[in-house]
Amino acid sequence: MADRGLCWIRRDIRWDDNTALAECTRQCREVLVVFVFDPNILEPLKKKSLRDKRVQFIAESLIDLDARLQTLGSQLLVRFGDPVEVIPSLVTELAIDHLFFSRDTIPYARTRDSAVIQAMTDLGRRVSTVNDSYITDPDGIVNAQNQAFRVFTPYSREWKRQLELNGIAPAISPDPSPLIRLSDSPPHTVGSLMEIAGFEPQSIILPGGEMAGRQRLIDFAKRVDNYDSTRDFLTDDSTSMLSVYLRHGAVSIRDCVRLAQSDTSRGRQKWLDEIIWREFYTMIFYHYPHTKTQPFQEKFSSLEFPTDEVLLASFKDGTTGFPIIDASMRCLNNTGWMPNRLRMVTASFLTKILLVDWRRGERYFSWKLLDYDLASNVGGWQWSAGVGADAAPYFRIFNPVTQSRTYDPNGKFIRTWVPELAHLNADDIHWPLDARSAPHSFVLGRNYPVPIVDYSSQRAKAIELFRNC
Ligand SMILES: Cc1cc2nc3c(=O)[nH]c(=O)nc-3n(C[C@H](O)[C@H](O)[C@H](O)COP(=O)(O)OP(=O)(O)OC[C@H]3O[C@@H](n4cnc5c(N)ncnc54)[C@H](O)[C@@H]3O)c2cc1C
Repeated sequence: MADRGLCWIRRDIRWDDNTALAECTRQCREVLVVFVFDPNILEPLKKKSLRDKRVQFIAESLIDLDARLQTLGSQLLVRFGDPVEVIPSLVTELAIDHLFFSRDTIPYARTRDSAVIQAMTDLGRRVSTVNDSYITDPDGIVNAQNQAFRVFTPYSREWKRQLELNGIAPAISPDPSPLIRLSDSPPHTVGSLMEIAGFEPQSIILPGGEMAGRQRLIDFAKRVDNYDSTRDFLTDDSTSMLSVYLRHGAVSIRDCVRLAQSDTSRGRQKWLDEIIWREFYTMIFYHYPHTKTQPFQEKFSSLEFPTDEVLLASFKDGTTGFPIIDASMRCLNNTGWMPNRLRMVTASFLTKILLVDWRRGERYFSWKLLDYDLASNVGGWQWSAGVGADAAPYFRIFNPVTQSRTYDPNGKFIRTWVPELAHLNADDIHWPLDARSAPHSFVLGRNYPVPIVDYSSQRAKAIELFRNC
């Protein structure tokens, strides 16, 4: 047993069912817990804005964990700096024998963690890494030829087979008895953490923290059996809205799978499938990191999107004259949230109707999404553009008006985010160009934009572009 262990919290900001914390408290006589704000990640965000919703969510989640540790007689240490320097110097300063953390598989994290492990080895200290963010490590599931899967359905079948075989580990509780406290400094506040990170506090629609994540999971458990039929409708309770909690580990992925497995309803099965998409994209990105900038399907490598900057700017601002697109983008810009159905519809619209390069859309979402996750975002954009793993075929192009009529039949979502159309009736609101219910004072082009492109001709151009490729 090691004398003193350090648990480095990263994408696992919670106490319950936290694998790294459980291992650290099991294997060490004394335990400290640290989170490091990493300028390599934060500085590019800072250049965009000092008000970043993700940083706020992280700060709120850290407060929750700190509060839990305080009640257990300990505290959360928070540092700012490059972890490759901060962690080894903390290890020396605090006489740590053994470092624990959960694995993160994106390329930057892998490089960073290798450097930290090397520095620990140089110092003669032990390091243990665990899998906590996913049910399976990204290299844990391979096909009969020992290669990574490229298609979702066989991957999902094998994923489920392994789950059936291995079962899901029972929830683990870290042992609080080895936790120690270094000083009597007062608990952190969101303000103090945002100051350490160099950002300004702000309000967000989904509160950070393990408590909030657990409550969301409990609430969703009452609705999960209907998930298969409700998930595409544009109401607040049609899906779980747990993605940001999963992204930062404020909720345990195993708790989600336990819920999905606790009954065999179609809703639960469908929800499990979505959880597997998350693991599938992580696996794809792990094996094919070049897909951050290159299409997964090599035949589309030479595809050149015209990418008109004016059209892209209208898309980002939500002024395209296509109400459901504008509502979606304004919702994203204001809240950091967009329902999955609309992520597909907007990504399809940008790439296949406005003919803008999917990489530009991917980058814009990466700045805006509260639940931004590199692998899922790249996967989602490539899927929608028709160039990714198991993607929608290039000729499958969502018609925004039909999608809007189907999934927002009364126009409630549009009314919320495009108030200038709120007076139109449920029929006209999806396509104001043909509106009969508009008052005389409403003039298309003055009160709301005329559609910036002709849908049908753009659609034909897209199909031609892809076919030629
Ligand atoms: C263009 C595009 C970009 C996307 N970018 C992201 C992103 O940056 N981060 C992100 O977490 N998801 C992304 N997604 C996937 C999906 O839209 C979100 O995970 C989902 O909307 C989150 O809502 P929810 O938590 O209510 O999901 P639920 O429907 O309740 O699903 C449960 C969980 O399964 C996972 N999940 C669901 N659908 C998908 C999917 N298609 N791909 C991967 N995981 C999924 C999420 O972790 C989600 O929380 C993107 C999809 C598209 C089409």
